[in-house]
Amino acid sequence: MNAQQLVLKQRAELLGALCGGGSAEPLDCVLDLLLAWEVLIWEDYLCIRVAEKPLCSNARQLLDVVYDKGEDACSLLLAAFHQVLPEEQKDGLCFGKGCAVMEKIRPSSGTSVLLIDRPVLVRKLRDNIDEALNVLLTTGCFTIKDCDGVQLPVYTPSQQVRRLLDQVRFKGETAAKTLLQYLEQTEPTRPNPEDEEIKLSAECLIYQRKLQSSVAAQSHFLSTYGGTGRFSLDDIYMDGLLEVMNGSGETTTLGLEDVVGPVGTLNEDADTVLVSGEAGSGKSTLLQRLHLLWARKALHTDIIVLFPFSCRKLNAEHRELSLKELLFLHCCWPDRGQEEVFQFILDHPHLVLFTFDGLDEFKQGFTDEERNCCPTQKVPVPILLFNLLQGTLMKGVKKVVTSRPQAVGPSLKRYLRKEVLLKGFSPEDINCFVKKHHNDPALAKRVIESLQGNTTLLGLCHIPVFCWIVTKCHHELLGGEDGIPQTITDVYLLVLQHFFQRKSPHPQGALGKGWLEEHLDTVLRLGQLALEGLEASCYVFSGYELQRNGVTEQDVSIGFLIYCNDLSVTDCKRYEFLHITLQCFFAALYVTLNCNNDRSVIPKLFQCQYRQRSGRSHMCLGHCIDRSVEDEVESNLTEIPNLQITAQFVSGLLSQRHHNLLLHCCPAALRERKVKQVVKSLSKGMQRHFKSIPRPVEGEKKSMHAMPSFVWLIKCIYEMQNNTIAQAAMAKLEVEHLKLTYCNIGPVECTALTYVLRHLQNPIGLQLDNNSVGDTGVEQLLPCLHICHSLYLRNNNISDEGLRKLVEKGINCESFQKIALFNNKLTDACTQLIARLLKSKQNFISLRLGNNNITSQGAEQLAEGLSCNQSLQFLGLWGNKIGDRGAEALAKALKNNTSLIWFSLVDNGVGSAGACALAELIRENKTLQELWLNKNCISRDGVECLIEALKMNSTVKDVWLRGNNLSPEEEEELSKQESRLTF
Ligand code: ADP
Repeated sequence: MNAQQLVLKQRAELLGALCGGGSAEPLDCVLDLLLAWEVLIWEDYLCIRVAEKPLCSNARQLLDVVYDKGEDACSLLLAAFHQVLPEEQKDGLCFGKGCAVMEKIRPSSGTSVLLIDRPVLVRKLRDNIDEALNVLLTTGCFTIKDCDGVQLPVYTPSQQVRRLLDQVRFKGETAAKTLLQYLEQTEPTRPNPEDEEIKLSAECLIYQRKLQSSVAAQSHFLSTYGGTGRFSLDDIYMDGLLEVMNGSGETTTLGLEDVVGPVGTLNEDADTVLVSGEAGSGKSTLLQRLHLLWARKALHTDIIVLFPFSCRKLNAEHRELSLKELLFLHCCWPDRGQEEVFQFILDHPHLVLFTFDGLDEFKQGFTDEERNCCPTQKVPVPILLFNLLQGTLMKGVKKVVTSRPQAVGPSLKRYLRKEVLLKGFSPEDINCFVKKHHNDPALAKRVIESLQGNTTLLGLCHIPVFCWIVTKCHHELLGGEDGIPQTITDVYLLVLQHFFQRKSPHPQGALGKGWLEEHLDTVLRLGQLALEGLEASCYVFSGYELQRNGVTEQDVSIGFLIYCNDLSVTDCKRYEFLHITLQCFFAALYVTLNCNNDRSVIPKLFQCQYRQRSGRSHMCLGHCIDRSVEDEVESNLTEIPNLQITAQFVSGLLSQRHHNLLLHCCPAALRERKVKQVVKSLSKGMQRHFKSIPRPVEGEKKSMHAMPSFVWLIKCIYEMQNNTIAQAAMAKLEVEHLKLTYCNIGPVECTALTYVLRHLQNPIGLQLDNNSVGDTGVEQLLPCLHICHSLYLRNNNISDEGLRKLVEKGINCESFQKIALFNNKLTDACTQLIARLLKSKQNFISLRLGNNNITSQGAEQLAEGLSCNQSLQFLGLWGNKIGDRGAEALAKALKNNTSLIWFSLVDNGVGSAGACALAELIRENKTLQELWLNKNCISRDGVECLIEALKMNSTVKDVWLRGNNLSPEEEEELSKQESRLTF
C-alpha cells in the first residue's frame, strides 16, 4: 500500500494519536517537522493551526492538506508520526516504507532558517524563553505586548516557544537574525545537556538496563485496575492539568516533562520539586507515567538513572541504612560492579532522579534538625530521606516528591525548587477518559450523557479517582436504582456495591436490598484494619496484620486490598488498599457500624485537626493500637487529611439518605446517638471559626478569611444532606466578605459551599481567587449567586461557557453587583452576554476582565452594553488585546457615562489613535477619576491629546502612562505640562 493510501486508511488512528491525549503537543511536533522538511509552507501552517478551532479539527485539516499534496508528502507525514509518537502508540500503526529526508542547502534568510531548524529550536529555546524575549525586547524587535502574548500562562513552554517563533517570523528578517545571533552566542557557553555525551561503562550500562526493565514492569499497570491486564497505563493515562506558580502568584500550565525541567523554578539552589494535589488527584499515577516514559527512553531528559520510592513503603523500613543500601535494596540490586555503579551515581548527581511518592504518608513529619551528608553512613531512613530532600546529601540529584498540600509545612518549603500543582481532569479529559475506558462507543456515550445530566457528579469526576470509580461502576450508575449519586459517600457506596456484586454467588450477580448487612462481617474486618492503619500512619499491611484483624483470604479476594507492587528485596507479601480514600471509607464504615466503639470516637475524629502541631502524637481516637507502634510515632501531621476524609464519610454514612441501607447493620438508638455526635461536632467546629473572625476595622467590611478546615466542615455538612444543619451553621455567620483564596477549591467544594452558603441571611462578597473552580464549579455556584453581592474568581480556569452560565443567572440576581475574572480563558465570545448584563442591570458596579483574550471586537460589544449602563464604577480590562479600535469604541460609549470612576486599559496595544479617542472621553466625562494606560504603545501625539483634554476636566486625578512609546526626555517634558500624568 502506498503512503497516500496508508494515510487514508489509518485516518481514524492517526487522528486518535494526535488528539487522544487532549494535548496539542503531538500535533505541534508533527507540524514542526513538516515545516522543517518543507512539506508544508507557512500559509499551510497558518490555515491548519487555528487556535480558535478544536484540536481535532486542526488535525483533520493537517491530514487533508498533506493528502492533497500527494505521495511524497504523505510518506514524510508518516515519517513525522514515526518520529513524534512514543513507542507504545506506534503499535498497530503502519508507517510505510519510510522516506529519507533530503539534506537541503541551508537557506540564507533568517526566517527560513527558523523554519528549517524549528524542531531543534523548540527544544533549545524552552529553557531560556525569558532570555530570548529579553534580547528581542531590548533590540526593539518585540514590544512588551509581543512578549506578554508569547508568555500567556495558558501555554506550555513548548507552545510559548512556537508562539515566539511565529511572532519573530511575522516581524521579519531583522527579528529572525537577532534571534539566530542570540542562539549562536548562547550555544558554546551553555551546551544542551541532551547533547552532552556521557559514556557509561559496561557495568553501569547493565545496571541501567536492569533498572529500566524493573521500573517499566512496575509502572506498566495501574493498581486500581488490579493488574488485570485489561488496562495498561498507556491505555488509560490522561494528561491532567498541571500548573506552577511564579513568585508573583501567576500560573503557567506545564507538560509532564516540565516537572523535571527548569520551568517555574523559584529557588535555583534547591533540587526538590514538589507535586502537590488532593487525594486522588493523580499524583501517584503521574509519577508512574514519568517512570514508565523514562524506562522506555521516551522522556526527553538527560536522566540516566531513576530511583522510585514510595514513602508508605519506606515506613516499614526500620533498619538504619546507608544511601547505597537504600538505593540498591529498595530499588534495584546491581548484579555486578556495585562500587562502580555507586561511584557513577555519586559523580553524576545531575543525571540522577529520585522520586518519592506520598510524602504525606511518611510516618515522620519533615525536619531538618539532624544533618547527614555521608552517602555510606548508616542512619535511620527518615534522616536519610530528609537529608536527600534538603540537598545535604547528594546535592544536585533531582528529586520529585508528591504530597497532599496540607502535609507540606514551612520547614520543607524552604528546600523546594518549585511546587507543581496537580489539578485533576478538565471536562474534555473526563470525556476522553470515559471513551478510553469503554471500548463500546455507545456505552461511553451513555456514561458521558449521564454525567452531563448531573453536574454534581461531573464536578466529582474532575478528581481522577472519582472518574475512575464512576466509570468503573457505570452499570450501577446507569441502572440508577438508588438515585443519582450526589455526595462522595454515595460514590464510594457505589464502588462497595460494585465489588460485592462482582463476587456475588447470586444469578446475574444481583445484590438484594440488604447487601450491606449481608457483607457486614467483611466490611467490619476491613474497616478495623483500615482505621488502625490510619491512626498509625500505616498504609501497607503484612499478612500478620491482616490475620490479627481476622481478615480472611475471601475478604482479600473481593478486591479492595491488593498486593503491593514493590521493587524492594523482600520476601513477605504485603497488602494495601486500592486507594487511600478507600482505606478512609472503610475506616468510616467501621466507625459508623461497629457497635462496640468507645463513645468518644466520633468527637475525637472530628477534633483531630485541632491537635497540637508539635510534640508526640497521641492516638487521636484512643483506639486499639499496639503500644509498641505508638511509641515510634513522632510528631506528624500526616494523618489529619485522612482523618478529615474519614470524618466526611462518617457524616455521609450517617445521613438520612442511607438510613435504609444501614437499618439492620446498626441498632437504631446507637445510630441516632452517632448522628447527634456528628451534628454537635460540626456545630462546635463552626463556632470555633466564627470566634476566630477578627472585629472589623472601622470603615472596613467585616470579613472572614477561612481557615483550612472551614472548607472541610462545609464538606461534612454537605455529606449529611441535611438542610436544617446547613441553615443552623449559617445562622450565626455574620460577615460581609468571605475569603477562600488558595484553598484548593474545585467543583466538588463549590457544590458543598453552595449547599451551605445559600442559607446565609445577608448577601456577601465571595472571594474564590486562585482556585480551580472551572466551568463546572461555576455551574455549581449558581444556586448561591443570589446571596453574593460580589464574586471574585481570578485565576480559576473559567471559559466563555462558564461565564455564559454565570451571566444568565446573574442578570436575575438583584444583589449581584461585582465580578472579578482576571486571568481566566475568556474571549470575544462572551462579551455580548456581558453587554446584556450591563444593559439589564442598572445597579452593577464593578467588572474586571483583565488578562483574558478579549480583542477589539469584544471591546466593541462591551461598548454597546456600556452605552446603556449608568451604574458601573470600575472597569478593568488590563492585559487584553483591544487595540486602538477597541479603545475608540469604549471611549465613545463612555463619553456620557455618569458613574465610571476607575478605568484600566493597561497593556492592550493601545496607540495614539486610541489615546486621542480617550481624550475625547476625558473632555466630556464628569465622573472618571483614574485612567490606567500603562504598557501600551502611545506616543507623543497621543499624550498631547490627553493633556489638551485634561485642561477641560477637573475630576480626573491620575492618568497612568508608564511603559509607552516615549523617550525619557519626552516623559519629563510632558509631565511638566500636566502633573496628573504619571510616567
Ligand atoms: P493520588 O496519588 O493523588 O491519590 P492516584 O494517582 O492514586 O491519586 O489516582 C487515583 C486513581 O485515579 C488512579 O488509580 C487511576 O485509576 C485514576 N487516575 C489518576 N490519574 C490519572 C491519569 N492521569 N490518567 C488516568 N487515570 C488516572
